[in-house]
Amino acid sequence: MGLLAKLLTPLSLLKLAALALLYVLTAIALGAGATFYLVRTAGDDAQRGQTVLLAELVSARTREAMLPYQEPLRRLAHAPETATLLAPDKTLQRLKKAGDLKAGRPEVLQATIVPAREFSETELAQHLTAPNARDRQGGFGRLRYHATEPDGLHIDLIEPIPAAADGAPIGATLLRIDGRVLQKIVEHSLPADGQLTLRLAGAGGMVLAQAGTAPADDWLVTVAPVPQAPWELQLAQKPRWPEFANGQRSIYLLLVVAAVLVAIVGVSHVHYLTMRAMDNDIRSIARIFQDMREGNIRVDYPIEFADFRKIFTYLRHSGMKLVKQQQRLRSMGLIDHLSQQHNRRAFEKRLDALFERARSTGPSSVLIIDLDHFKQVNDNYGHDVGDNLIVGFSEAVKRLVRNTDFLARLGGDEFCIIFPHIDLERAISRVAALRHELPEQIVLTPSYQHPLRWTGGLAVIQDGDAHPDEVLKRADQALLKAKEAGRNRTFYYQHPLGVRAI
Ligand code: GH3
Ligand code: MG
Repeated sequence: MGLLAKLLTPLSLLKLAALALLYVLTAIALGAGATFYLVRTAGDDAQRGQTVLLAELVSARTREAMLPYQEPLRRLAHAPETATLLAPDKTLQRLKKAGDLKAGRPEVLQATIVPAREFSETELAQHLTAPNARDRQGGFGRLRYHATEPDGLHIDLIEPIPAAADGAPIGATLLRIDGRVLQKIVEHSLPADGQLTLRLAGAGGMVLAQAGTAPADDWLVTVAPVPQAPWELQLAQKPRWPEFANGQRSIYLLLVVAAVLVAIVGVSHVHYLTMRAMDNDIRSIARIFQDMREGNIRVDYPIEFADFRKIFTYLRHSGMKLVKQQQRLRSMGLIDHLSQQHNRRAFEKRLDALFERARSTGPSSVLIIDLDHFKQVNDNYGHDVGDNLIVGFSEAVKRLVRNTDFLARLGGDEFCIIFPHIDLERAISRVAALRHELPEQIVLTPSYQHPLRWTGGLAVIQDGDAHPDEVLKRADQALLKAKEAGRNRTFYYQHPLGVRAI
């Protein structure tokens, strides 16, 4: 905020417009970012959906591949003679019977008939007796399968041998099939790009099959459980934008560019309107001041900003008051007709008043000013140009003195400033500042600039003064000495030392 405040100082409409543009563009960027986020997460969701579909596909293909084994296995488990083979002395017959399922099928690694008594501590026991085994391990109908190591990767298909009455199975038939069939299924199911991994469900589950290219760090990885199997399928793919139909992307980019353009054109338009209105309103304000000087305030001035209307009405009212006051002064004969400053009569009244109050409110200082070689201006350029110098000089002085100071034209090229309640010391520094700040030249005609030269005499009302004229006499005395000393300087009178230069 500190840096922003610094950049905005001094404030300008252009800077404000730039700031507004910055805000609008930020808002557009946020909107575009939000859209990007939405589209991107929609892309992620699409991949998640695709993984679920692929898992269903892998499940269906596995079931299809297992079908030729399931039916014979089921038939074997349910054949009445199989139950009779479970007796301890029928091991050889069991092996032979099961071996028939293997014949001519190299992908069948093992075929077994296992009596229930041999289950006890094996994993098979779990499959067959645990009440939730089916839910936990999955399975196809009453057949169950899973893929594990060792023995290389394989799929176990298990079918319980039912008891005669309803009871716990008395054994199971088992077919162990080469797990490479899964690799083929996964390869077959792999989408055009990415990596597909089939593994046992659960954290760090063993990889059963994998196909595709190794994923990069920024690829999106999604996992879905394989229905009816204790496996899960993982799909890793480069994050993708969803497919845009017929130039949707171009339309989107076009809209963003249009938004930025609207922001730039809009802010420039607002800036232009503001500048124009400000320019117009400031001109109206300037006009009101000019009219005030000319004593002719109009009924209405064009103001564009409704916000300014109140302050403008206030200005117009105070201007009217001022003009009336001026007219009153003029009608009382207190304003000098040429310089529009106080005249000698007004000056005398003011000095009298301050002289009366000098004892209680402190002394006031008086500076008499006389333009140097004013007559030459009249002689060389004419009386009108001389008039211009009187007006120009009095306006320049009026601009620099304080509102409480009293400027008057005493006559000809002679002026006077009263510094009310200002002692000599402070008046000296005020006069020095005035000389320093006044312009070096004053434009009198389009082709003539007059070098400004004036001589001043400064004095202060003293305790012993019996009449206001006495301070004027001392100021005059100082002025005379300053003229004699070469003009264009100010002298002051200080009791009891006499006249000295500033
Ligand atoms: P210095 O440097 O000694 O002050 O010389 P100066 O020429 O300024 O002084 P001087 O008193 O000799 O001349 C003042 C002249 O001012 C004389 C008079 O014709 C002229 N004057 C008086 N009133 C007006 C006026 O209202 N307009 C114009 N243009 N001239 C005026
Ligand atoms: Mg003069």
